[in-house]
Amino acid sequence: MEKRNPWDIDEDVIKKQEQENKGSMTSVFCPKMNVSIGRPCKMCDYLLINVYNKRYPDNHPAKNWAKDKKAKLNIFFNAVFSDARNVPIILNLKNEAGNFILEKSREDWKDILNPYAGKGRELTVKKVQKSGSKGGSYLSYSISPVLEKADWEVPEEVWKNAYNLDQDVLINMIKTNSLTEENYYDVAKLKEGETKKFRLLPSWQNGVNGSNNRKFAQFIWRHWGVTEGQVEGTEPISWSDEVDTDDPLQNYNPNNDIPFGMAPEKEPVASKAESSENKKPECFGKEAFFDSEDAICKTCSFFKMCARAIAS
Ligand SMILES: [Zn+2]
Repeated sequence: MEKRNPWDIDEDVIKKQEQENKGSMTSVFCPKMNVSIGRPCKMCDYLLINVYNKRYPDNHPAKNWAKDKKAKLNIFFNAVFSDARNVPIILNLKNEAGNFILEKSREDWKDILNPYAGKGRELTVKKVQKSGSKGGSYLSYSISPVLEKADWEVPEEVWKNAYNLDQDVLINMIKTNSLTEENYYDVAKLKEGETKKFRLLPSWQNGVNGSNNRKFAQFIWRHWGVTEGQVEGTEPISWSDEVDTDDPLQNYNPNNDIPFGMAPEKEPVASKAESSENKKPECFGKEAFFDSEDAICKTCSFFKMCARAIAS
């Protein structure tokens, strides 16, 4: 074995330190939006009562603060990359791209889970700049199917050994830092303009529903930059204590206060722009996401129906 120079930087130590540091800045799972937890969430309640219901104008610091604190959705799939076909991974496609796949799979992407050659299809994810509803742009991910059917199969031992993505199991994996470079890929790792080709794997059969499971994606909702106590109701929440309110209409960006690497990327509540007309977005009827003043909500074709559903 090569003798280690004691003055060399030990990359493993840095990696471990980064991992530990990440652990201390973890998100808080929303007990209300994650159905497997199924308890009230004081953060979601606070946002609704003290921000959304107040009807603040656009760019009000309370609204910007709320955008940052509300539960964010990540959507996870079992997949293999086309250049590593024997390695099942958990793929986090975030909210917009994940929802786009779910919508398309209900329409005409019926073959995307088929693991066989000549039957299933590869998908491509690309990190792109998209324009926001209020001007400006944000980084997001576009998904497109490869037109030809895949000419290779996902080996049976690979898709049969895909991960159990039951929500409680996945939450536990995240909590115990069990998502590693070997078993997990977050699309946020893509560089702008970079593309990756993959195949989704069939529904996992090793969860609580066994072979009856037909789900192939899992939803995880997390609040960032909040404490467990604020979510559970043992610590106070106050947007005005956290933002500078001397100039209430300044374009305050709370992301500036969050340490590098921790701020979630700006994502719209759901892929409304790409939703087909008659499919309700995932946020439909959920109080925590409805905002009668929000430009994304206002342009949603379900705006009025959603307002009624929440009011009833
Ligand atoms: Zn919540």
